[in-house]
Amino acid sequence: MTEQQLGQTAEACAGCGVRLQTDNPDIPGYLPEAALQRDPVICQRCFRIRNYNEVSSVAVDQDDFLRLLGSIASTDSLVVHIVDLYDFEGSLISGLQRFVGNNPVLLVVNKVDLLPKSMNLNRLRNWVQKQAKLEGLRTLDIILCSAKRNIGFEHVIEGLDKHRKGRDVYVVGATNVGKSTLINRLIRDYSDMERELTTSRYPGTTLDAVHIPLEDGKAIIDTPGIMYASRLTEVVPRSVLQALLPEKPIKPLVYQLNEGQTLFFGSLVRFDFVQGERQSFTLYLSNALNVHRTKLERADELYEDHRGELLGIPTREELEEIPAWTRHSIRVPRGSKSDVFISGLGWIQVNSTTGALVDVHAPKGVKVLLREAMI
Ligand code: GDP
Repeated sequence: MTEQQLGQTAEACAGCGVRLQTDNPDIPGYLPEAALQRDPVICQRCFRIRNYNEVSSVAVDQDDFLRLLGSIASTDSLVVHIVDLYDFEGSLISGLQRFVGNNPVLLVVNKVDLLPKSMNLNRLRNWVQKQAKLEGLRTLDIILCSAKRNIGFEHVIEGLDKHRKGRDVYVVGATNVGKSTLINRLIRDYSDMERELTTSRYPGTTLDAVHIPLEDGKAIIDTPGIMYASRLTEVVPRSVLQALLPEKPIKPLVYQLNEGQTLFFGSLVRFDFVQGERQSFTLYLSNALNVHRTKLERADELYEDHRGELLGIPTREELEEIPAWTRHSIRVPRGSKSDVFISGLGWIQVNSTTGALVDVHAPKGVKVLLREAMI
């Protein structure tokens, strides 16, 4: 493919030096076409930093991401690992500790505002602790917050004060966990506003790091987000993303299902109750998604005839761009309270006294697993 086809320009950003492109706002070097006329020509990210003192997210692939994590290993710093509570297993950076060397990791769990208000935060913290341990994560501390709704942000600041010990802070996270929302709050509430944000290069990479100055001369360093194709949010077109990312607390939906019944979540994922006694399934999904119930024996035909239309988003054309489904067969043990977790979509809580066999059909590569119930 030529550079022209890729929407790349021959120019480099006068701010950070990255090759400019007009195609994809999510990856480094993006600027809208009209901004090419500006003098000097800078990427959208540098523009926002210079004009609004605000960071915006860019994403990189696994190789670049691991290279830059590797460059953190040679520093003496505190690493803040932001994960999305709503997509916990999907947004954890597995093996983080191996890459950042001996630097301690503070786990910040964002988007707590999405859970029902009645949720007991101590219980939730225990759940996070247990799951993090299962994933092999060693953490100094766990902080629950909502960057967007300003919940628990004082604990983020206390955590930084307590654990930073005069060091720089590297903030790492997958895409869409709310990293830039959190960093922009830190710029307003924690940084040395007198001094400007600066950018520099990660050693051994072409990526720029934004340095947010702190009063003691140290800095908070923003890193690009890593894109995980194992999250539904990363395989859908942008137009569908907003429907998957809930803005308000999720209202759980309870479905009493008989064996042989199927639920469609938009046209994105299908959930079959294959075997078991009649029981309830509680959906924790974005309330913008259409849920459609049908008989399992009719499900194939219904999907063939009505995907992208009656079943809801995405459109038929958009579905062409998304990987085809694979089927995950999951046995929910008898007497357990579990979540069937679908990364980037949400989860279905099964409180099964008698056990259940379910099939989940989801785009190939999307992480689907059974876990201890969060709620
Ligand atoms: P980044 O890619 O990690 O930098 O994420 P952004 O800060 O751009 O946020 C990604 C999406 O998550 C946006 O739609 C935000 O509005 C949303 N978001 C960020 N923080 C929160 C939060 O605390 N709660 C909720 N409900 N949404 C959030």
